[in-house]
Amino acid sequence: MGLGTVLIATEKPFAQDARDAAVQIIEDGGLEVKLLENYTTKQQLIDALHGIECHIGLIVRSDIIDEEVLDAASGLKLVVRAGAGYDNIKHIYAEQKGIKVGITPGVNANAVAEHAFHLMQDFIRPIDGGTGTELRGKTLGIHGFGNVGKYMAEIAKGHGMDVVVYDIFLDGKKAEELGVRVARTPEELYNGANFISLNIPQNSETKKSIGYELFKLMSANGAVVNTAREGIIDYDGLIRAFEEKNIGYTADVPPQADVRANLEEKMGERVFMVKKKQGAETKEANYEAATAAANLCVKFSKEGILLTQVNNPLPDDMWDYVTLAQYLGRFNTAFVERPNSVEVTCYGRLEKFQDHFGRYVLKGLFQDQLGKELTPSEASEAAKERGIELLLRKPDNKRGHGDSITVEYVYDGTAHSIRGRIDEKELQVQRIGDFRMTIPLEKGIYVIAQYQDGAGKSDVIGDKLSSKGYNKIVGGFRQEPMRNEEELAENQQEPTVKRAMMFCRINPNGDALQDIARIVESEIKSIPGVYRALTVNMG
Ligand code: NAD
Repeated sequence: MGLGTVLIATEKPFAQDARDAAVQIIEDGGLEVKLLENYTTKQQLIDALHGIECHIGLIVRSDIIDEEVLDAASGLKLVVRAGAGYDNIKHIYAEQKGIKVGITPGVNANAVAEHAFHLMQDFIRPIDGGTGTELRGKTLGIHGFGNVGKYMAEIAKGHGMDVVVYDIFLDGKKAEELGVRVARTPEELYNGANFISLNIPQNSETKKSIGYELFKLMSANGAVVNTAREGIIDYDGLIRAFEEKNIGYTADVPPQADVRANLEEKMGERVFMVKKKQGAETKEANYEAATAAANLCVKFSKEGILLTQVNNPLPDDMWDYVTLAQYLGRFNTAFVERPNSVEVTCYGRLEKFQDHFGRYVLKGLFQDQLGKELTPSEASEAAKERGIELLLRKPDNKRGHGDSITVEYVYDGTAHSIRGRIDEKELQVQRIGDFRMTIPLEKGIYVIAQYQDGAGKSDVIGDKLSSKGYNKIVGGFRQEPMRNEEELAENQQEPTVKRAMMFCRINPNGDALQDIARIVESEIKSIPGVYRALTVNMG
């Protein structure tokens, strides 16, 4: 037995030369290869996995890798999807089992874009049909300006089309370079478009997200080209838009037979779908995807590096710290709207995983800024695009901070920091700025006020909250700042004011966070001696 085995399991095999090249790369990398091609049942895949003693990786295409398959693969370290979409792999379950999932992005993007363009052209002007429609001067909206979307834009520009793009993480530089217009919302993209090309992934957020409300905005007789995934379409909405505006639909990702039959019956010639997905079926894409997947396995076996990892395995006992990291990330709103950098230091046992925790801090940060949940990898991409730097600091473990995480939000040279830890399963804030505390951290809405210390001041703030009907549940405040006293003494200056901090978890009584924030803004801040008062949403 070599260093380990890679199983290439493909219900629909790679082209032979692509497969042979992949096998060669894996063997040259000192690994053994097993092939399972053209298999027809899940059991065959499970049996093949059972038969392997030392798994390094499993290379697949659109094969379904569900819980049962992952459970069968004892000792498996890596699943590589040769391609960009990975909705066929239960990647979160894999993550819980410590199995990494990687992809080979971009390798088949040109093939898919050419296919999408071909579908669109054939749909509006069948090669041996009657009078068709021309593309020059028509508006094409590209929903998802990633690898495929960019090639699609390039091809469409070459045909004299007016191209508009929308992406949640827009590559503005590329948009400018290609001379395409940018829409700020999906609605703006669909508004008046003659054609829409769908190039977004399928995930919990995009599932059934393309429906009547978007289709109805298109130009009458417009058409949608879907080479992304069938699950992103709300088919009832499509039929309704067809009935009102004659919207057409062409796809290489057909839905289930009954849905398909219904569409074909209702929409007649205004719908065309290929029999099975073939956007990436070119010799070039096959070769690139197979060899890229093989190279990923070899690099991973030698260096433990997986650059295109889409999930994030952590040992079981680290998952509570993931929640802690996200909470600390959400606290950014208490400090600065958009930091220049986020500096994360993980102490004790957490040091080894600090790149993971760093990304979870960013996930927390964007949850409130964008109002939605990103994956840790998406969050680090989002940070890069916004010029927010993530810095991972080496901890000084002699400081006795135990297993804890410190996050510093730096803006304009000023750092605001917060440290959290877990004590007996309880998530806690240990320090904010120079205030030490032990405050339990859990779901809820927090009001944090900093003020000039003085008798009864905390009661005034507390009363203001209760007078608004907010039931103060946890209150924590520290009368003494922990640093500066010595410094001030050295400088022979008397501390003139002592600062205090009040930290309340409140019961919002059904009020929206914005209402509470407004009250905090106007009423608590107007109390004499209150420097700052903020709300933080941990809902
Ligand atoms: P990609 O990851 O390079 O690009 C996807 C883009 O969509 C990214 O820029 C991302 O920011 C954007 N995006 C994600 N969620 C979004 C949202 N909610 N709203 C707007 N934009 C969003 O992937 P790619 O290589 O361009 O492929 C696109 C999709 O095409 C894949 O996810 C896959 O499902 C599908 N695909 C199909 C075939 C086929 O044979 N038909 C082959 C390969 C890929």
